Amino acid sequence: METRKRHARKEDYRMRTHLIHGNFESKKWDYDHHVIPPISHSTAFRLDSVHRGAQGFVQFASADEALSGHMPIYIYDRLDEPTRSMLEETLAYAEGGDVCITFASGMAAISAALGVALRQGQEVLAHQIVYGCTYSLMTNWLPRFGMRVRFGDFLKSESLLAQVTPATRVLYFETPVNPTMELIDLAEIRRVADQINAGREEKERVLVMVDNTFATPYCQRPLKLGADIVVESLTKDIGGFGTDMGGAVIASSAWYNHLMLFRKDFGGVLTPRSAWGILVYGLPTLATRMINQQKTAQRVAKFLSEHPKVDTVAYPGSECFAQKPLAHRQMQNPDGKFAPGGMLYFVLKGGNGSVSRAEKLVDYIAEHAYTITLAVSLGQIKTLIEHPFSMTHSALPDEQKRAFGMHPEGVRLSIGLEDWHDIIRDLEIALERV
Ligand SMILES: *Cc1c(COP(=O)(O)O)cnc(C)c1O
Repeated sequence: METRKRHARKEDYRMRTHLIHGNFESKKWDYDHHVIPPISHSTAFRLDSVHRGAQGFVQFASADEALSGHMPIYIYDRLDEPTRSMLEETLAYAEGGDVCITFASGMAAISAALGVALRQGQEVLAHQIVYGCTYSLMTNWLPRFGMRVRFGDFLKSESLLAQVTPATRVLYFETPVNPTMELIDLAEIRRVADQINAGREEKERVLVMVDNTFATPYCQRPLKLGADIVVESLTKDIGGFGTDMGGAVIASSAWYNHLMLFRKDFGGVLTPRSAWGILVYGLPTLATRMINQQKTAQRVAKFLSEHPKVDTVAYPGSECFAQKPLAHRQMQNPDGKFAPGGMLYFVLKGGNGSVSRAEKLVDYIAEHAYTITLAVSLGQIKTLIEHPFSMTHSALPDEQKRAFGMHPEGVRLSIGLEDWHDIIRDLEIALERV
């Protein structure tokens, strides 16, 4: 591969540009003659000699080797392969971590990150509201492997000290919290972790693990704010088009070996076809999509907050957002501009009757609206709506949901790329009918 002489360093360009062009020279593939990176689909790779094959096995999962800039020796898709590797380079850069390891889904990434961070007898302390399957993983599966979970209120960070035990190894949370859009202060949780770690040996330290799916690296980079490990679903805003599933773990190079071995043996690899879609469609359009979704979300939040049937609107970009200073501090794009994302949650004033007004609204929209679709998932180019109380968060007991700020009249909106006038129009008509 011929190396071109560039007139500037890659650090001189902004992230938005980097997400489109990837690394200047990737050693993962001959990038030089394709405008779009080639899609490689090969479960096994030709090894020129036994010696080279042996070398490939020795080098596999070595962070030094991966970061050396040498062309890797590929052996078998489940170990490593080029299309995924290119996506991983760009994602590691976007999140500001040394390494990224992708997985078949967000859940495969989360189980791998917890799987490498915890051993039998150890504990994770998680925020009381986490993504439903993460909750199920922690409460149904981790205990089978001898790992325990405790839940705490990460919005009251001081209260966590009382819940940490000598066995605690991971502090786990999402911010913004789904669906209430409350923010957890990353720098504050880092301070708590440092306080806990002050009296601990290196190998007993607690790690700060953050699910960055809602914000995406465009709106928030938790590693820069003190997190040790970032996990995220690529199925949502990062993939962006609702066509592929994927997940990623981004961390320091010390985790590379463990994560690669975990992925090899548990087998949750991202298919090259999905990796390619996320690499050539998802990441290059991430900034543009987020910028547009944010503009629309601002307008929708304003419209809703002025509507007589709406009680409260939780959108980090609203003037009236309860945690506005934290939102501005924590949710920033790579150029330092405020980036509140495209997710919002609003609570309707209660109607009369046994069925909540929120459920009626969502049902009306499902049947009659053009721009808003009733579906779970989020972060697509189409605006999606759902009723968390009875759908995504139905597994939690009602009392608990209420205690955690979830309301039967609450509605979650994931803003897409439609013309904002049309989204508001569809909401306006629906609100008239309920
Ligand atoms: C969707 C989601 C996940 C899980 O990702 P999958 O790709 O569906 O496995 C995890 N965390 C959050 C916050 C999510 O929204």
